[in-house]
Amino acid sequence: MSRRLFGTNGIRGVANRELTPELALRVGLAVGAYFGGGRLIVGRDGRFGSLMVQRAVEAGLHSAGSTIYDVGVMPTPAIQYAVKHFGMDGGVIITASHNPPEYVGIKVVASNGVELPREEEVKVEEIFFEEKFLRADWRGLGSTHRLSGVLDVYLEAVKSHVDVDAIRRRGFRVVVDPGNGVGALSTPRLLRELGCRVYAINSHIDGSFPGRPPEPRPEYLGGLSNAVRDVGADLGAAHDGDADRTLFADDRGVVHWGDRTFALLEREFLRENPGELIVTPISSCTIIEDVAKEMGGRVRWTRVGSVVVSHAMLETGAKLGAEENGGIFYGPHQPVRDGAMAVALMLDLLAREKRPLSELLDELPRYYIEKARVEYPVELRDAIMDELRRRVKGERVVTIDGVKVWFGDGSSILVRPSGTEPVYRLYAEGRTEERPKELVEEFRGMLQEIIVELRGGRS
Ligand code: MG
Repeated sequence: MSRRLFGTNGIRGVANRELTPELALRVGLAVGAYFGGGRLIVGRDGRFGSLMVQRAVEAGLHSAGSTIYDVGVMPTPAIQYAVKHFGMDGGVIITASHNPPEYVGIKVVASNGVELPREEEVKVEEIFFEEKFLRADWRGLGSTHRLSGVLDVYLEAVKSHVDVDAIRRRGFRVVVDPGNGVGALSTPRLLRELGCRVYAINSHIDGSFPGRPPEPRPEYLGGLSNAVRDVGADLGAAHDGDADRTLFADDRGVVHWGDRTFALLEREFLRENPGELIVTPISSCTIIEDVAKEMGGRVRWTRVGSVVVSHAMLETGAKLGAEENGGIFYGPHQPVRDGAMAVALMLDLLAREKRPLSELLDELPRYYIEKARVEYPVELRDAIMDELRRRVKGERVVTIDGVKVWFGDGSSILVRPSGTEPVYRLYAEGRTEERPKELVEEFRGMLQEIIVELRGGRS
């Protein structure tokens, strides 16, 4: 089928313009038919459009005869955990995650709490586009019940995976920045229950996201950084709008990308679980492989996307995964990214190590990064990538998602077409400041040469 409903993380659009109540109703009809009615948890983020979308989706689900357990405004990972914990058939999460404030979104999760894999989304799309809806008899229409206590169950589960007493004894000072998203419900409370002194910023839920953009990027987290320094905190943590991602600031107030702080969690995990498999997208820093080699673990590189990581973990039985954007997947809890779980794991690590986070990070191998963009003629997109694959030479070449090449000196470059515009994104890493710059120049030149040749051959 050429028509698509789902993007990389569910269905997203501007509220009331792209994602209208009419569309949401039809999504509800399709999802209800997909589950054959079923018992479903439904919850939402704090965006202005989310209640409108939820009610429309619910009407569609009622039409299919679904029994809905409404958990209200709730972090995405808490909703996912509840689906599994309460033995539901599935769930629908109304969230646009890290997107700008005007967006709303819909995610569908299976009975294990994990978002549907692509082959299952296709089934929902087929029902949606061909209108193979399930219309319940008037006696069999669905219903909605309020489900309370989800946050308690979820936070108890998170705490069960860490040494609560050891963390409490340290009395950490922690700054948390939920970015006016739903993480305001879970993480400040989790931190208090772990005996931390909590300083919260942007911690009221507000769909206009007045504090900062909903996506946690180091350049948006100046407030977190300053607060960490002002109060002399041990740790800072910032979530995206639905609290499944976490970026950390160290005790000096420096905000790090997720793969670097994850490397510390990975090292600790492999120390206790030697030989285990770590799952991460091809866009992550090689530091994850460095740590795995040092500690006797293995790395499974995947295509980019959190749902891909989750399903790779399910297939391989891997217990730990991560994304550079701050997604941490802890399988013993649930194989989906979970912002509060990430915070608990980091505090557990700090409680064991008894040294400041900045000092631990300083010990890790240092990588320098260089990024670039190369525009290309849309019609040549695949031909250019095919030719690039033929030409590249390096220590190791992986082509599961774009082209990634590693070289003997530990440097690497990834070339991937952007999902939204006719541009290749180049992302190079190296152990010296010059190396990634050289790689970007070399590959930019190679791409431009290929484009000229392919164009010449056609005209
Ligand atoms: Mg998110």
